[in-house]
Amino acid sequence: MAEPVEFYEPRTIAEAVAVLASVPDACCLAGGQTLVAGMNMGPLFRPPALVSLQRIDELKGITQRPDGTVVVGAMVTHRTVAQSELFGGGLEVVREAAGCIAHPAIRTMGTIGGSICHADPAADYPAVLIATDATVVVTGPSGIREIPAAEFFVDFMTTSIEPDELVTAITFPPAPADAVSVYEKFTRASGDFATVSVALALSLRHGRCESVRIALGSCGPTPVRAAAAEQRLVQTSLDESDVQDAGRILCDAAAPMDDVRGTADYKLMLIPRLLGRTIQRAQERAVAWRVE
Ligand SMILES: Cc1cc2nc3c(=O)[nH]c(=O)nc-3n(C[C@H](O)[C@H](O)[C@H](O)COP(=O)(O)OP(=O)(O)OC[C@H]3O[C@@H](n4cnc5c(N)ncnc54)[C@H](O)[C@@H]3O)c2cc1C
Repeated sequence: MAEPVEFYEPRTIAEAVAVLASVPDACCLAGGQTLVAGMNMGPLFRPPALVSLQRIDELKGITQRPDGTVVVGAMVTHRTVAQSELFGGGLEVVREAAGCIAHPAIRTMGTIGGSICHADPAADYPAVLIATDATVVVTGPSGIREIPAAEFFVDFMTTSIEPDELVTAITFPPAPADAVSVYEKFTRASGDFATVSVALALSLRHGRCESVRIALGSCGPTPVRAAAAEQRLVQTSLDESDVQDAGRILCDAAAPMDDVRGTADYKLMLIPRLLGRTIQRAQERAVAWRVE
């Protein structure tokens, strides 16, 4: 017979932090799509206490600050992100990634906070947070910390938050008015985790690349960003040779592993092709939205 699990339902962030700080090995429960599935697999992962975040209204909702920053509560579901009109232009990539996570049942329960805290390198949000230069807001007994996404994902399924801290929100800074963004995910089957994914945010002026941020998913223990590949594209017309060069540089920065979704060699073959596809779609979006 399995040991009973203590269950807490705080109503505020402060109450949740107090439980995490006082109950040894207590674990946050968000949408349960990863955690409960793991607990059901057997005794290997069975925290002695769960702190449900479902009743904390402060963690729900998407808002926009006057400067254009979009603030997403940790308990906002993938479905809500995928339907939000606050993600357009340079932040369209956030909505696009949310809409291709798993399938509707999981998107209805799974949350952005749960996804990034699990920090699966094959998940869809991590690369998107890097490409959009997002910040993760965390609260613990010592107060609030704001962690740039690049410092949040530190290793395979490992983040920089402490056991007595919880993620409360993710902030996405406003993108330039002429920015477009695209998420491209290659999967074995619809609803699967990514074999390789590319998140891209791009500013074009008269067909030339003013600025670009590219992040790869499923190509290493954490999302991969290659400044050299971005530099290769800036101030170019994004011709075939520019994109091919950038794809080669991205491959050099990537460290994919063999896994059930493909061999490392297969993933390296996919990277330049997916990059080409994201850039082509971004160019098409720029024309369609007449932002050039
Ligand atoms: C069949 C299946 C297919 C999937 N496919 C995809 C996919 O294609 N792409 C993808 O990206 N994901 C996929 N997922 C994962 C899914 O997106 C989950 O929703 C997500 O990984 C976890 O979110 P959750 O809200 O359910 O978190 P939970 O399962 O409740 O928690 C996950 C972990 O995060 C911790 N945690 C949760 N919230 C917080 C917080 N606010 N602060 C601190 N710690 C917290 C928990 O303690 C736990 O360790 C899939 C899952 C399943 C079961």
